[in-house]
Amino acid sequence: MEKLIACCGLNCATCDARIATMANDDVLRTQTAEKWKVAFGADITPEMINCTGCREEGVKFAHCSECEIRNCVQSKDFQTCADCDKLENCPLLVNLHQYAPDALENLKSLN
Ligand code: SF4
Ligand code: SF4
Repeated sequence: MEKLIACCGLNCATCDARIATMANDDVLRTQTAEKWKVAFGADITPEMINCTGCREEGVKFAHCSECEIRNCVQSKDFQTCADCDKLENCPLLVNLHQYAPDALENLKSLN
């Protein structure tokens, strides 16, 4: 279960993209694309809703495959940002953790 905490602290286990992918659920893919289109102001189609999780093998949602937080963690050979001494003052994390404070708590719980 712990491995489903993404590099940034989001919980991939509760992410609709992962749930839709694991269940191959096209209805949930469509609903998630509509929700994320509004939330992120981006052109997201149901076909893009495919992701096995940040730290799992397999397909990634478009943004997650090129996420600079994930790239930074991998370049440092960390598991997640919880392994980094910049965790609480990293400029790459500040916006995400303002929007999703649970993600920071998830990372702290790994230490
Ligand atoms: S890596 Fe995939 S499963 Fe995890 S939060 Fe991002 S889209 Fe969802
Ligand atoms: S500098 Fe540290 S806290 Fe910031 S994204 Fe990279 S690994 Fe995460």
